[in-house]
Amino acid sequence: MASGFRLVLFGPPGAGKGTQARLLCRHLEVRSISTGDLFRSNLQRETPLGLKASSYMSQGLLVPDDVTIDIVLDAVLSIDSGQGFILDGFPRNRCQAAALEEALDRRSRGLDLVVSIDVPQEVTIARVTARFICRDCQTPYTLTAPERPGGPTSERCERCESCGGELYRRDDDAPAAMRKRIEVYQGETLPVLEFYRERELLAEVGGVGTVEDVYNRVIMEIQRVSKTKDRE
Ligand code: AMP
Repeated sequence: MASGFRLVLFGPPGAGKGTQARLLCRHLEVRSISTGDLFRSNLQRETPLGLKASSYMSQGLLVPDDVTIDIVLDAVLSIDSGQGFILDGFPRNRCQAAALEEALDRRSRGLDLVVSIDVPQEVTIARVTARFICRDCQTPYTLTAPERPGGPTSERCERCESCGGELYRRDDDAPAAMRKRIEVYQGETLPVLEFYRERELLAEVGGVGTVEDVYNRVIMEIQRVSKTKDRE
């Protein structure tokens, strides 16, 4: 496996990006940067950033680019060039994709791969409706997920299995905010796929099945790209 892999995980809300990012960053030994987790942890600490982001998040809207881009680029550029990263939830519009590309280009570090996790809308809605997350470490749990029998379940636990934190439902997983998030995804975020398709960085994998099924599909794409990278 090529070291220092630079991966973007892409997909609609409820696609399983966060779950896969957690597994993949252990496997690839890279850091995972989730914009949603970043905003939520700031909100929990009531920082100015968290308070500003929360009004957008609770309505299912994107946090404005002038706030989001700087924060993510700072985090990405603070990672050593040989170390690699996974981005979960960024970029979410073409402006963010262009800003990321420019920042990485300036350091001669382009992305290796963008994996889009494809999940039908009815499945994402069912997952989000059943989703709880840990207030402390942000691990996502699914209350009932018949189509993902290997996934974590909170049926047995009211507290996080990793850190013991309290589990809660995200405000923006409520039906009205979720409808808005889907609309924003379709209008603003989906065009990012074209951006990466044009650059031949895009791989699309099916996101229905167990967590392990999806993980294996993503790994196959990473291996395919790593082999090409190793040959170069
Ligand atoms: P997520 O946890 O990825 O579903 O993100 C939760 C919310 O955080 C989104 O609905 C947005 O309000 C905000 N957010 C996350 N990533 C971004 C981004 N790249 N640009 C703008 N807002 C974002």
